[in-house]
Amino acid sequence: MSENAPIATAILPTVNLFGLDRTALRALFAERGEKPFRADQVMQWIYRRGLDDFDGMTNVAKDLRERMKQWFSIQTPELIAEQTSTDGTRKWVLRLDGGNAVETVYIPEDNRGTLCISSQVGCAMDCSFCSTGKQGFNRNMTTAEIIAQVWFVAKALGSDFQNERVISNVVFMGMGEPMANYQPVVTAIRILLDDFGFGLSKRRVTVSTSGLVPFMDRLREDVDVALAVSLHAPNDDLRDELVPINRKYPLGELMDACHRYTQGKGPKAHIVYEYVMLDGVNDSLGHAKELARLLGNLPAKINLIPFNPFPKAGYKRSPSERIRAFAEYLRSRDIVCTTRKTRGDDIDAACGQLVGEVMSKQKNRLSNIAVQVSP
Ligand code: SAH
Ligand code: SF4
Repeated sequence: MSENAPIATAILPTVNLFGLDRTALRALFAERGEKPFRADQVMQWIYRRGLDDFDGMTNVAKDLRERMKQWFSIQTPELIAEQTSTDGTRKWVLRLDGGNAVETVYIPEDNRGTLCISSQVGCAMDCSFCSTGKQGFNRNMTTAEIIAQVWFVAKALGSDFQNERVISNVVFMGMGEPMANYQPVVTAIRILLDDFGFGLSKRRVTVSTSGLVPFMDRLREDVDVALAVSLHAPNDDLRDELVPINRKYPLGELMDACHRYTQGKGPKAHIVYEYVMLDGVNDSLGHAKELARLLGNLPAKINLIPFNPFPKAGYKRSPSERIRAFAEYLRSRDIVCTTRKTRGDDIDAACGQLVGEVMSKQKNRLSNIAVQVSP
């Protein structure tokens, strides 16, 4: 072999660019002896123009494009199934390596489009009313897999990647507990917010957590995004039962963390508290009063979610009059309260109905494995 043979590039595995934020891609270009600003150009092609082939990146010299083909890949996910609800909500089942699949849901509204993405295959948190939780935990998703969902759906919707209204909002409310897959999720958030990435505004990216307190504090330090907290109960006894992570981080600690999250973020900063309405479980006026007391003066909005049923759930949705009375009480206490419109339930795409397709049937739940919940 001649001395100049490109052996190094031949044996390096290709890097999937969906997994790298701008800092990491700049560093990678520098490491390969290229100008770091190439990262900015390449990211714009991928996320602002929707390109997944290097030949089309015409502001990059041809020889560098050839080298990039050796070094990098842009791996788009494989579609397993797709469904559209009568209300326009769409759901895609995407294949991941290792025989797993996850679900991604798009909810179109008049002047915005919300994409609900998954961050784990299954979930270990074992919330008693959640179909994903009942399925157990299979594995964390990589940043590349998380980001590929957004790119894939933008393409599937025929977006030119420049119209900010097609996917205007991204919420981590699909399968999984995002704060239990911390670093890959934070890197994905950076790509969602980056002007050379998807360019979403910080108020339009929402992380929803069941309350992993140490990671909520870290999140505040690492990125600026909206936070939703799955509260679902106004006291520890009930929350221990519905959201078992409460046994590790009880309401006192959780509410303190919520207070810290918005502190110093300006007058508009608030947390959205999600509260699933379960018939006869957490939906009485007494619960509403307790909830108002718990929130006190915290900057808060409450989002009531009518329970979405799934086979063997063991719960029923609260009747609409009770949901209305609950909301009215909170409003009478000057708490902003909305009720989430049920979308996509005819295709099992509503909150808590996502199950993907998990090959391993092993039930890795909070109750029977030591889940890593400390940073
Ligand atoms: N794991 C994160 C985000 C995903 S779930 C979390 O728990 O916050 C998104 C929201 O749907 C959460 O508030 C969750 O508690 C709620 N949810 C789960 N199962 C549900 C169901 N069957 N009906 C209604 N909402 C549900
Ligand atoms: Fe996991 Fe969220 Fe479902 Fe709880 S509600 S099991 S944290 S996905």
